[in-house]
Amino acid sequence: VGSLRDRIALVTGGGSGLGRATCELFARRGASVVSGDLDGSAAAETIRLLAGDSHLALEIDVTDEGSIDSALSTVLGRYGRIDILVNSAGLGEGRSDTLVKGTPHWQRIIDVNLTGTYLACRGAAARMRHSGGVILNISSIAGVIGLPRRTAYSASKAAVTMMTRVLASEWASMGVRVNAVAPGYIRTPMTDELAAQGRLNLDVVTRRTPAGTMGTPVDVAEALAFLASDQARFITGAVLPVDGGYMA
Ligand code: NAD
Repeated sequence: VGSLRDRIALVTGGGSGLGRATCELFARRGASVVSGDLDGSAAAETIRLLAGDSHLALEIDVTDEGSIDSALSTVLGRYGRIDILVNSAGLGEGRSDTLVKGTPHWQRIIDVNLTGTYLACRGAAARMRHSGGVILNISSIAGVIGLPRRTAYSASKAAVTMMTRVLASEWASMGVRVNAVAPGYIRTPMTDELAAQGRLNLDVVTRRTPAGTMGTPVDVAEALAFLASDQARFITGAVLPVDGGYMA
């Protein structure tokens, strides 16, 4: 079920959290995995964790079109094609009080979460147009429901959700499927850092999640693996919640 045998997958944000778990699961399902991250040594650490020598680490800045282009050229040069792109590079936002403090990291969050995802989608689709492929974006429950004090983050994720639908309808005829997952609260370095800064209360979000627990990166990776597989061949433009019922 859900084999990714011989698929070539590029995972941005592959050095940490959901991206790292996705690299690990996709490799176990048979894919050759390219872990791309702004933090090149974290990307390389992910690859060291994988069995087999068909994987690759790249330093990549998704906000820089030149960096994405050169990463995709490296992938094409080594493997001859790209079958799957997972856009997991992203920045979280603490609970900034929009009215009093504004949103200090507005532009950077939009640049990484939205523009970076768009640039990577475009670059990958241009290389998938003849052979087809799958693009998977990471939205968030924050892109669907209104959570206070996350203005920039939520706006970026709502835009990723809508962009996923638009690109799915635009690129379906060339055999490129575009889907997203909308994770709830998942225990990763991102949420750990927000909690350590006192900007996210893990007990509160756990209580508010109907499943009574935070998710794990593997929960999200499993959903991505299904959407990447041939079993999901008729699914495009979907935004799948992986949230323990938070939005139910
Ligand atoms: P994380 O911080 O553990 O990992 C994000 C990775 O992205 C890091 O390795 C970081 O170096 C990389 N990155 C940041 N800017 C980059 C750039 N410009 N170019 C390339 N790489 C860059 O975070 P995570 O929790 O694994 O989050 C992954 C994605 O999932 C993000 O888009 C996040 O918004 C989304 N998400 C996470 C949760 C959660 O609860 N953890 C919930 C919903 C959505």
